[in-house]
Amino acid sequence: MTPEERREKRRQQFAAYYAKHADEIRARTRAWYAANSERAKEHQRKKRFDHPDKVKAIKAKYYAAHKERDNASNAQWRAKNQDRLAAYRISRRELSAEWNRKHPDAVRSSRHRRIATEKHAEGNWTAEDLATLRKILGVKCLAHGNHEGAITIDHIVPLAKGGTNYPTNLQPLCLKHNCAKGSRSCADYRTSEQVVEVLKAFRSRVVV
Ligand SMILES: [Zn+2]
Repeated sequence: MTPEERREKRRQQFAAYYAKHADEIRARTRAWYAANSERAKEHQRKKRFDHPDKVKAIKAKYYAAHKERDNASNAQWRAKNQDRLAAYRISRRELSAEWNRKHPDAVRSSRHRRIATEKHAEGNWTAEDLATLRKILGVKCLAHGNHEGAITIDHIVPLAKGGTNYPTNLQPLCLKHNCAKGSRSCADYRTSEQVVEVLKAFRSRVVV
């Protein structure tokens, strides 16, 4: 038997098993989601945040496959359920706003990603990356060591000037020192030890 045949056989075995136990498997999955709904939602939400391009591709594929059927039946359903739809939109917006409030770093990450895409800059960073970065660079403005006012995540080499959106190009700065705001005192404020630490922490992902 060739490896392809073996794979095909395994695939068929699994399909047969699934067909025979479909209800059981579905019930088990449902029970898990019921018991872990917060965890599951959180996980899904994070995945969507971390992979916006994948989400877009999946939606586009689904839309292309269901376009005609959906358009007709959706229009009917929408006409009948306008109140429900409005309530649903509000609750979605509130949920989303609440999630954003609880995850400011994820929001920052996706904003940076959006700007980086606009400027054709390479790289991305996650809320976890930012937590790692804070352990190395601290949480205060690196330029003047103060913690007053809003601390921004600054691109050391601005995206517009060819800088990347990798964590190796980030530093915490107050609004006054932020390079994007006028670049008066724009500089790399990290010590050489910190630079080494940062490169070490992200070496698996970042090509410098
Ligand atoms: Zn400052």
